Formats: sequence, C-alpha cells, structure tokens
Amino acid sequence: MKTKHYDVFVIGSGIAGQTVAKTCIKNGLKVAIADKREYGGTCALRGCDPKKVLMQFAYLMQQTKQLKANGITKMPKIDWKTVQEFKSTFTQPVPKHTESDLNNLGIDLYHQSPKFISKTEIFVEGKKVSADNFIIATGLVPRKLDFRGSDFLKNSDDILNLKKIPKSAIFLGSGYVGMEFAYMLSTMGCKVTIIDTGERPLTQFDEFLVEKLTDSMKNSGVNFIFNSIPTQIEKLKKNYKVSYKHEGAIETVKARAVFNTAGRVPAIEPLNLEKANIKHDKSGITVNDFLQSVSNKNVYACGDVSNKSVPLTPLSGLQGYIVGENIVNGNTKEFQNPLVPSVVFTYPNLASVGYTEEEAKSRYKTIKIFQGDATNWYNAKKENLNVYAYKIIVNERTQKIVGAHLLSPLACETINLFTMAINNQLTVYDIKKMTFTYPSYANDIKSMFADKR
Ligand SMILES: Cc1cc2nc3c(=O)[nH]c(=O)nc-3n(C[C@H](O)[C@H](O)[C@H](O)COP(=O)(O)OP(=O)(O)OC[C@H]3O[C@@H](n4cnc5c(N)ncnc54)[C@H](O)[C@@H]3O)c2cc1C
Repeated sequence: MKTKHYDVFVIGSGIAGQTVAKTCIKNGLKVAIADKREYGGTCALRGCDPKKVLMQFAYLMQQTKQLKANGITKMPKIDWKTVQEFKSTFTQPVPKHTESDLNNLGIDLYHQSPKFISKTEIFVEGKKVSADNFIIATGLVPRKLDFRGSDFLKNSDDILNLKKIPKSAIFLGSGYVGMEFAYMLSTMGCKVTIIDTGERPLTQFDEFLVEKLTDSMKNSGVNFIFNSIPTQIEKLKKNYKVSYKHEGAIETVKARAVFNTAGRVPAIEPLNLEKANIKHDKSGITVNDFLQSVSNKNVYACGDVSNKSVPLTPLSGLQGYIVGENIVNGNTKEFQNPLVPSVVFTYPNLASVGYTEEEAKSRYKTIKIFQGDATNWYNAKKENLNVYAYKIIVNERTQKIVGAHLLSPLACETINLFTMAINNQLTVYDIKKMTFTYPSYANDIKSMFADKR
C-alpha cells in the first residue's frame, strides 16, 4: 500500500487543531486535518457559543421576574422552537465554513478517526499516512458512567438540542456544565434535581460564593442532593427513576430526563496511542513545556486533550498557537500557565481569577481578604437582585491583588478588570485611584475594598 506523507497531520478541528493547521500551512508546510464529527469543534458547535445563545433567554426570564412587582405586567413566554432555530443560525453554518476555510488554505481534510500504526504513521480512510509531526487536538468527551440503566443518560450535546423544555430533569454532577444547564432549565420552568457524589457543587470555585449561588438556586426550586452515588436508572412510562445511595440507604427520584454532567475526559480512545508510544493518563496526553509528547517527539498535543490544559477555549487557542510556532520554528515557545479567568454562566455569573483563599494562604505570609454581600448596593437594588457578593484577595505585604472571585450579573465582564489588575501587579491603591463609569458593576469594584473581613 502506498503511503501518503505530510509535514503535519492534525487530529481534531476545534480551536486548538485549527490554529496549528493554519499556522503551519501559512508557513509553507504540507498539512492535513482529520475530524470524526462535524468540523468546527466543541466551543462553536456544542459548547460556549450555542450555550450562551440559549442562556440569554433564561437571563431575560429571570430579570423580568425580578422586576415583576415594579412595572412588568405580563411575563414573556418562550417559544423554544424559535429559540432553537435562532441558535442554529450560529451553529449550522460552522462545519461548512470551517471546511471551506481550511480547504481554501490548501489543507487536506479527512472525516474519520485516524489510528496510529507506528510512531510516525496512521491509518485513516483506508490509507496509510505518515507525517513528520502529528498533532493531537481531540478535546474531551463526557465521562462514561457505568451502572444499570446508564444508557438512558443524555449529555450536554442533547441539552443544547432539546426539542422542548422537559417538565422535570435530573443532572448527575454539579460542575460548571451541570450548574449552568440546571440553572437554565430551571429558570425556563423545568423542575430540576442535581445529584452529586461530593458535598458541594463547583469545588474549584470559592466556597463562600458557591454557597450563595447554591442557596439562590435552591430558593428558585432546584433540589440539590449531595454525598450521593447514582446506582441505577429505570425507564418508567413517562419518567426515568434514578436510584442513588445516600448515607448507606438507597433512595429514588423521578424526572422526564436524566443528564450526565459528571465531567469530561480526554478523547483518546480510538487513536491507538500505544502503537505510537504516546504516554497519557487520565488528565490527557503527557506533554513537556513545548506541548510535545514526552515519549514520542513526532507528536504534540494541545487544547483540552493535553495534560497541561484547563478546559477553556482561550487556553486551547493559546496552546494551538504555541504548537504551531514550535513546529514552524523548532521548539521556541514554552507554555507557561497564564492567568486564566473562568466563569459559570448562571445568573448571577460566578467568576474567578487568580488564587483562591487557600492557595493565597499557602503562598503568602499574610493576606488581606475583602469579602462581602453587596445585595444592598445600588446595582443589586435597581434589579431586585437578591444575590450579589465578592471576595478579593490581596497580598498584605505588597498590597497587590492576587485573587478575585465575583458573584454578579456581569461578573463575566468585570472579572476581566481583575485579570488586568493581577497581570499588571496592580495594588489596591492603584484600583482605588482610577475612575470608572457610573453606575456600573465595574465601579462597584472600588467599594469592594472598603471593608476587610
Ligand atoms: C457544554 C460546554 C460548555 C462550554 N462552555 C465554555 C465556556 O463558556 N467558555 C469556555 O472558555 N469554554 C467552554 N467550554 C469548553 C470549550 O468548549 C473547550 O475548552 C474548547 O472547545 C476546547 O477546544 P479544543 O480545540 O481543545 O477541543 P474541541 O473543540 O473539543 O475539538 C476537538 C475536536 O476533535 C474531534 N475528535 C475527537 N476525537 C477524535 C478522533 N478520534 N479523531 C478525529 N477527530 C476527533 C472532535 O470531534 C472535535 O471536533 C465548554 C464546553 C462544553 C462541553
């Protein structure tokens, strides 16, 4: 069999894979890319972008409800079919646009999962293909849960494509995907239950703020069941019955739909990594600071599937850029964990950047914590918002801000001011002397430094 050869073969057409492929072709290399699903990746097709299109309708419903006693006479009604059609205007063009964009650049496209057959060769679409560099940019897939009836579980792709809002739903897992979609469906009238094996949701976020968010969701009718392990799902006539083990006893809860939001794992299963001696573990492909496989120098991994990534779109793009540069210029760029803000897009948003309280305590001799509830501030009062809070962490010796955690309707935006402040090593004084727009959530930042915990 004749072997086709490329300088660079990319596996995965998300932000990470596309960035590498484009950098390499623009620098005169012969490039191919393969994807086993529609071209375009998770963010554009099954993640961030469609999620926020749908989510804004939940925000509108909630904001309207908050102002019901203050002049809103009729609650709006959601026509979900039209909402879905609107969302499709964002997702539907993506695969075709992505393919023609890559094609026009001269990149060869494959539509199947390749399998490694040696350290420098793969098998794809019935062909043997060799390459000087293989890039694994396959992202993550939902973690498989294994108990009786787990085949009935739906995942985040299904939530984004729901034909109608179910009357009731159970979410297994309260990470950010679970919390965001639980919030969304509950705000749209679905009776939501969240089951989690741990004792609280969103374990990587600040506890003080997570508790406030959880309480607010509970007040809106979301039922949280913690310290519980799902053991079985049974299909009834209209509902699914989920059994779970709680404090030694088996209990049950019923709903129209059950979603697996129990985390995502590296998408590496069909690749035959062993044949190419590509080291990996449960956090992904093991790479060095150049994002090159530690066990096969012909291979790089970037984006969610690399073990040096946090699963967020901006980081995947950055890693794709670094891998592209390293292939073109020969390992010149190292991946140094940048400061990355992250957001849970509930309403209010929960956003975080920099150190948590625990991390800061272990790193600095003394820290100052500015923490508070801001529900009686103007911004919250004008919206009838009953949850608005913050925690800002400062290195006491230098007065520099080292961590910021916000629970506010615009936290996804205001957290970026803290990202700039921390990146530029700004002090509390630097922030206080700045003038921001008023009234605004940005301006509230200055009031956050008024009282120390
Ligand atoms: C529901 C949801 C909401 C999210 N919301 C946000 C958000 O608000 N903000 C944010 O920053 N991030 C968000 N993320 C995360 C974000 O989508 C990812 O971090 C980002 O898309 C990762 O990009 P990537 O290029 O590494 O991988 P992906 O975009 O996942 O691309 C991987 C590609 O590889 C393909 N592939 C997989 N296996 C194979 C194989 N064996 N052979 C060939 N092709 C393969 C896949 O089909 C896919 O197209 C969200 C994710 C989800 C699931």
